[in-house]
Amino acid sequence: MERYNIDKIRSDFPILKRQVNGKPLVYLDNGATTQKPVTVIDAIAHYYKDMNSNVHRGVHYLSQISTDAFEVTRKKLQSFINAPEDKQVIITKGTTDSINLVATCYGRAFIHADDEIIISAMEHHSNIVPWQMLCEERGCKIRVIPMNDKGELDMEAYEDLFNEKTKLVSVTYVSNALGTINPVKEMISTAHKHGAVVLVDAAQAVQHIQVDVQDLDVDFLVFSGHKMYGPTGVGVLYGKEELLNAMPPYQGGGDMIKEVTFEKTTYNELPFKFEAGTPNIEAGICLNEAIDYINSIGLKNIEAYEHELLEYASEKLSQIPGMKFIGTADQKCSVISFIIEGTHPYDVGVILDKLGIAVRTGHHCAQPVMDRFGIPGTIRASLALYNTKEEIDILVAGIQRAVNMLV
Ligand code: PMP
Repeated sequence: MERYNIDKIRSDFPILKRQVNGKPLVYLDNGATTQKPVTVIDAIAHYYKDMNSNVHRGVHYLSQISTDAFEVTRKKLQSFINAPEDKQVIITKGTTDSINLVATCYGRAFIHADDEIIISAMEHHSNIVPWQMLCEERGCKIRVIPMNDKGELDMEAYEDLFNEKTKLVSVTYVSNALGTINPVKEMISTAHKHGAVVLVDAAQAVQHIQVDVQDLDVDFLVFSGHKMYGPTGVGVLYGKEELLNAMPPYQGGGDMIKEVTFEKTTYNELPFKFEAGTPNIEAGICLNEAIDYINSIGLKNIEAYEHELLEYASEKLSQIPGMKFIGTADQKCSVISFIIEGTHPYDVGVILDKLGIAVRTGHHCAQPVMDRFGIPGTIRASLALYNTKEEIDILVAGIQRAVNMLV
């Protein structure tokens, strides 16, 4: 690995200097949202001080520079995921919005009564509920890929779920609750053999591993800006061009039309057909800085660094008496989920917070995962490119302290 300049990286994130409850902040809730580098924060202020204007509308100078900057992000996103064309990158509010868009537009047009949709046992609620809503409306069915005790999907069971009614597979790349990296390339190829299209939820992937939509041959890929060091309220739907073209629009409004009369409206071309109304302009523009930040370090370096941290954390945490890891897949990244015998995750979380350590406790919007393991929730430490072994040591000492108090 090239030299990974962790001191420089940490100094790029102003919030990491703050204290919480009188202690230096140890931020290990990156699966929920990541902190922002100063370049992203400054770009937001710059946008409002110097550029604020609506996009895709005015002929005036400010509108043109805002539009250009917004479209620069689209191009940056295109190369970030290696999409063939920038018009295949739809800018949405986030992962949830993107999945709902596909469930609504692709679902209503191409999924009918008795058809089947395959999802996995480790999905975030946002990759379960939109499909359930579609099924309620359409009379289609959801089938679920089971997982083993390590938190890995059962690939044989997956193959067995397909039949002539299977229309779509929607699966997460990386589990937010367990950290499992799913073999999505192989899963996509299996689905295509059975004539089904595939949506990959990359909300927990794009900030940790290189994602190439052409190499995966994925039909739809979705992710959120705020989990990849960018602003909140912006995300992506990538789709294959022929699928996006065949889908009806999502919402009606400004920007998504070519011509409107009271008799008939014609719709705009991609990507605007799916981008009705004023978008979150500053978030869209400033996501560009987040991608630049990731690229300046390099995803290969980030992946190697975070992997080393994950191994270190797993080893150190395993020494705590009563520790039980939930999710021990061979292919994992960024997330360590665990319970400790004799303690409730919430109580441990509260004590850690008093020590300035931010973790998440509970079901992590993945209740079926908790049901699968027969537990109400876990303590989750989720890593980012700025975390350190020293922070892991503080976490381990904090948990040890919590255990001494609670058990
Ligand atoms: N899918 C996964 C795997 C996630 O981790 C999350 C966020 N926790 C989402 C979907 C939803 O993302 P958002 O809330 O940004 O729409």
